[in-house]
Amino acid sequence: MTRTLDSYPQEVRDVVARTREVVSTLHAELPRWGLVVWTAGNVSQRVVVDPAGPGEDDLFVIKPSGVTYDELTPGSMVVCDLDGNLVDGTRAPSSDTAAHAYVYRHMPEVGGVVHTHSTYATAWAARAEPVPCVLTMMADEFGGDVPVGPFALIGDDSIGRGIVETLLDSRSPAVLMRNHGPFTIGKDATAAVKAAVMVEEVARTVHISLQLGTPLPIGQADIDSLYARYQNVYGRTPAATDEPATSPVTPTEQESTR
Ligand SMILES: [Zn+2]
Repeated sequence: MTRTLDSYPQEVRDVVARTREVVSTLHAELPRWGLVVWTAGNVSQRVVVDPAGPGEDDLFVIKPSGVTYDELTPGSMVVCDLDGNLVDGTRAPSSDTAAHAYVYRHMPEVGGVVHTHSTYATAWAARAEPVPCVLTMMADEFGGDVPVGPFALIGDDSIGRGIVETLLDSRSPAVLMRNHGPFTIGKDATAAVKAAVMVEEVARTVHISLQLGTPLPIGQADIDSLYARYQNVYGRTPAATDEPATSPVTPTEQESTR
């Protein structure tokens, strides 16, 4: 039987409350950056339950299903376990909950997941074509091409499985699920939202470049060097945070396990 939130320790309930605020606030970034229409798109963040680190007993906070962005509040966010069961909330969880849960179950280093149908990234997904790494910012952020995942129908684990199998094979925090759209991951939900914004931006820029001619590839050694510099010097040093329990894995560990 699924546990209710009341049965979790106070420290976990406190992290859930803060995570509800974070996830609710981050949903406003999706329309702000033009990534969603109507109620499509969702953000989630893991809540680590065991002080020893992420595991199968973790929870995550995600958007409720079918609620418009203007109506989202911390209190309307729902809490699920990693099997996708509702643990707390007054509404049904997002219809993409099973995919988010699958990612958290199989990628313990992931603390945040975002899904949108943003226009340009989804246009590449419709053609099942990876976005080629032809921009230094792509080398920085994605470490190479943005890969395409398999066609998968909603309703079982196939979307989650396709996301995980594709991302484990890549340095990219974004995957374009074929005929569907982008899913992005990060050490927390903020990082996953950033990846969702960035994947749309590079999909748009490379699309425009293709209209003008042939974008020039970047050599693999240069991609590797850009990626290493950006990830180690700039980006992923553990930020000072008041929520250490939600992102206990350091960036270095994250890279080495992916
Ligand atoms: Zn979708």
